[in-house]
Amino acid sequence: MTEFIPEEKIKEIRERASILEVIADFVSLKKSGKNYLGLCPFHSERTPSFTVNEEKGIFHCFGCGAGGNIFNFLMRVNNFGFPEAVKELAKRYGITLPRRELSAAEKARRTLKERLFEVNDLAATYYQGTLISLKEGEEGRRYLAQRGISKEITETYRLGFAPASWDSLALFLQHKGVPLNLAQSLGLILPRQEGKGLAEKGSFYDRFRRRVIFPIFNVGGKVCGFGGRIIDESELNGSQPSPKYINSPESPVYNKGQNLYGLNVAIGAVREKGKALVVEGYMDLLSLYREGIRNVVASLGTALTPAQVSLLGRYTREAVVIFDADEGGQKATQRSLELFLQEGIAAQIASLPSGFDPDSFIRREKRAGFEQVLAKALPLMDFLLEQALARYPASTVEGKVRAVRELIPALKRLPDPLERNLYVERIASRLGIKEAEIRSQLRRKEAGAKEEETISPREHGPAHEKLLLQLMLFNSQVIPQVEEVVGKDGFADFRYQKLAREIWHFWKRKKEVDPQDFLNQVEDEELKDLVAELLLTGESLMDPDRILRDCLRKVKLSRLKQEMHQVDDEIRQRIQKGKEDSSGASGLKELLKRKQRLLGEQKKWLDEATNRLPA
Ligand SMILES: [Zn+2]
Repeated sequence: MTEFIPEEKIKEIRERASILEVIADFVSLKKSGKNYLGLCPFHSERTPSFTVNEEKGIFHCFGCGAGGNIFNFLMRVNNFGFPEAVKELAKRYGITLPRRELSAAEKARRTLKERLFEVNDLAATYYQGTLISLKEGEEGRRYLAQRGISKEITETYRLGFAPASWDSLALFLQHKGVPLNLAQSLGLILPRQEGKGLAEKGSFYDRFRRRVIFPIFNVGGKVCGFGGRIIDESELNGSQPSPKYINSPESPVYNKGQNLYGLNVAIGAVREKGKALVVEGYMDLLSLYREGIRNVVASLGTALTPAQVSLLGRYTREAVVIFDADEGGQKATQRSLELFLQEGIAAQIASLPSGFDPDSFIRREKRAGFEQVLAKALPLMDFLLEQALARYPASTVEGKVRAVRELIPALKRLPDPLERNLYVERIASRLGIKEAEIRSQLRRKEAGAKEEETISPREHGPAHEKLLLQLMLFNSQVIPQVEEVVGKDGFADFRYQKLAREIWHFWKRKKEVDPQDFLNQVEDEELKDLVAELLLTGESLMDPDRILRDCLRKVKLSRLKQEMHQVDDEIRQRIQKGKEDSSGASGLKELLKRKQRLLGEQKKWLDEATNRLPA
């Protein structure tokens, strides 16, 4: 776990390995100009937009935005961590990797996040060991056996058991030399309160006690948090009732609603089937898995979050959401379904008979019964229409109005105009109203709701900001100058700003930026995608000095303009105030001076443009 691969080795692998050869195992590629094109393995498409550039050593999909270098490709397609991807390539190209432990200094340098993941991993190992082989795990073994959870499932999902004791995990971690403040920040243990007579037994106690433990993994297979379920239902309403499930609190490695439970295991099956099933709970997912249905993820909450839907969209363009009938009608769930439309995922909704969840249903009806339910799944828009009809009587005027209002946001999000038209027709006929009325509602909503439109993550920031980033990646000597001019106020585009900050940090450490090295060190998937895109599309930087000047000037001028607007506003307010009483005049002089200075600066930057003098 604490292995270390020297940078020279990574470089050697990179030089020896061919990104074309490696990707060709997964995608059939055709030459097209300088690049190779194929069907993207990360989203389903009919026209190839997945691009590989051998010379630059990168891939980028113009459809879904996925991108990176050869290591990133293997990480994504095989769900590897970086070391695994390096090892795989080393093996393939016959390069031997040295084995050695980290030095103390290297250990200290590891980021906090890595250490937190390690602590979580250690805890998962502890819980699993307890479940599998300790006497204290007996209750957990019995519970899971009763629910038909096999040893294979236990291992695949690293299920575990937290014993009934108050501090067995705290003691275990302490024994392993884990700083307890780290375990505390992960929410694994909690500080004891003073004066409860327990202080002498240690200052922390375990969060999870007498519960079956479900580690929650990120896509890369690292443990980011835990869920724990009681094994004795009577605890639900005893004298001191405990909740059925408790989960890890938010931590630097765990954000609620950012992960999909089981995605790390399901990726292969999701790709193979071309779709994912979405259920709610741990046990729903495990029961389906037991019956051989493997392309399943769990939301761990009734309503899917935007982050979850967008995460899913990286792996599939089709999803079937399995609903307990009792929850299907809730507003929050319904809103979350509309996210699929926004993400361009074709979603269907399968409803279970009232009183069942996927776990209890498949337990009784087995796989065959479950597949019948799947076969009856409704396309999302039809499902929403049925829900609206069930909720509002189409026989009354008010019912019709409310049903249409409820369906408008979803209709608006349908990306295909033909599909939207067909639904407009269907809704009109079901509700017994004119199509034109729905269409006018659609238009009105569009006009009034501009500000609630969210910017899609693949939309681009200003072109000059993009160029600046490309310059920073291709000619790292410009970095200090960009940092000086753009500075902390930064780029207008949030994603660009994030990337610029990463590049600055990287440059400060290494004094140069090799885009490939950089890609190996970036953790954020979104940033990797962006870097690959910038590298691939950054062909024509013919006159870098000139481009640098132009771009910096644009950034600067747009910022100056903004600042001047602000000053103008303030001046106007002061003058207004000055008319009412005399206090407003006091700051006015100051403001006018500032305005003068801004004008001077603006002139300077404008002059530079005409004279083309170096900045
Ligand atoms: Zn793609």
